[in-house]
Amino acid sequence: MSGNAEGLRVQCYTCGNWYDAEDVTIPLDGYIPFMTNYEYCCGSCGTETIVKKPASFIQVIITTLANLQASHIYHDPPETCFSLQDDIIPFVWDHWDMICTKRSKTGSWKNNLATKLATETRLFREEETGSQRFGLVDQDLSTIGPRRYESKAVPTRSVGRMKRRLDNSQVNSSATKRNKSDAPTSKGLSHGYPLEHPSNKVCTHTHHSHPPIYTHLHLYR
Ligand SMILES: [Zn+2]
Repeated sequence: MSGNAEGLRVQCYTCGNWYDAEDVTIPLDGYIPFMTNYEYCCGSCGTETIVKKPASFIQVIITTLANLQASHIYHDPPETCFSLQDDIIPFVWDHWDMICTKRSKTGSWKNNLATKLATETRLFREEETGSQRFGLVDQDLSTIGPRRYESKAVPTRSVGRMKRRLDNSQVNSSATKRNKSDAPTSKGLSHGYPLEHPSNKVCTHTHHSHPPIYTHLHLYR
């Protein structure tokens, strides 16, 4: 089992293994499931440590949507898209100090969230155009962790880290070869995928029909 589907677990940045909160000797106060803005080193890989990183808005949204999805999984049918005003913004507000580490609440944070939700169409999709209800494109919660959604404050790139990233099955080779100019801008128009693609617009249960590319997250430094 991996991920946070059964409660809080943390992923070792080095080996990629997942550990139950109760098996971690460090207190995990201030952590909630599906956070990606931390770097944990397990006892097998070295001295057990965990460090929180400042989170990008994309990381904040991923954590929020994953928790909302997990808490609605037993609804019939399970809900996968959530209201910006009634679900997403209140969740971020309630968990700000945990999931927005070191980020101060500026007056524009709600607009920033809304912009990312609308423009990062490889990661997020709107249930219906104009519905202001958003969900994750890839609804597989088991892979949401710090190795997939790397924090912007991770130390300088190294060959070792590139290798680890290449080992990650979630990242395909074409993704890793993408350069900065291919990555989405804040306007979200240069990613090369048609905005009108159905999987970008409609919340379906189809998985991986449109493999998302995550390497652009590295650009939010
Ligand atoms: Zn490890």
